Amino acid sequence: MITDIPAPDDFFCSGWRFLDYGWSQAIELLIDIRIQEDELQPDSTDIHEFWELGRHNLITSLALVQQGIELLLKGCIAEVSPYLLITQPQQWPGKCDKNDTFFSQFRTIDAQDLIKVYDTVRENRLSENFKGRVDELRKHRNMTFHGINKSTIVEASEVLRAVFEAVENLNSGKRWLEVHKNFLENTPISRINDIDYSVKYRMMKEMEIIVQNLKPEEVEKYTGFRVKEKSYKCPWCGRVARKYGGEPKFVQERVDKDGITKSLYCFCCCENIETIKADCQSPDCDSTFLDEDGVCLICDHENELDN
Ligand SMILES: [Zn+2]
Ligand SMILES: [Zn+2]
Repeated sequence: MITDIPAPDDFFCSGWRFLDYGWSQAIELLIDIRIQEDELQPDSTDIHEFWELGRHNLITSLALVQQGIELLLKGCIAEVSPYLLITQPQQWPGKCDKNDTFFSQFRTIDAQDLIKVYDTVRENRLSENFKGRVDELRKHRNMTFHGINKSTIVEASEVLRAVFEAVENLNSGKRWLEVHKNFLENTPISRINDIDYSVKYRMMKEMEIIVQNLKPEEVEKYTGFRVKEKSYKCPWCGRVARKYGGEPKFVQERVDKDGITKSLYCFCCCENIETIKADCQSPDCDSTFLDEDGVCLICDHENELDN
């Protein structure tokens, strides 16, 4: 028999890890260029050279994302049956019918067949749009690996879009920012130092970059944050911002998992925020949410609490 058969989650976790590497490289560049703009006001030559040097990071990022997508596709196929990932019997390892054989010793189907298998065995087929994107990424990766990338231009925001699209289309139900925050929280240093503040600070910076670089409708589709609607300040991110800087402004009302009740959710903490529902007493403020100490989540007014 075949032993050590991988679980779908093994593929998903590896796939997300690849996406996370690709994502982090790309968003790092966008963070760097934004800080430079604030401080030094680089001229157009500096900016051109910045992206020229960053081109290789972005090409690698996109190749990592493509690899991640293949692993997520394998995870989705393995949810139906992991045996679908194994090639035909002519290519099976010798004597596998006589001795127990590890799954990893079997050849798996080619990357370009993954979508065909997915669409054949899963209840819902992938959208034509997403299939086209995956195909483009595969061609791009092949070109990169054969060294034909001299003129390839990759936009950092394209990498972010590709990651969001991958998670949106493969294994629905997961939000990328939650997956990504989990990776940030589980870096090796997290076992030595308390990194709660640095993770929140990083998530705040990344949310600003996402809002600046994607269209409002894309931000809503991928994260749930509604750019043009009222947002509140997160008390937890606020503490981080007071110490390190950053804007703790990514809190909005969101429908809970039960589909009925609503809570205030912070898109940087990726958690619901405990609040008091009460009108802010400041005359110019229309906020209806205060933190547990009575501080308004819009204007910071310190409200008197009844009890
Ligand atoms: Zn927060
Ligand atoms: Zn207020």
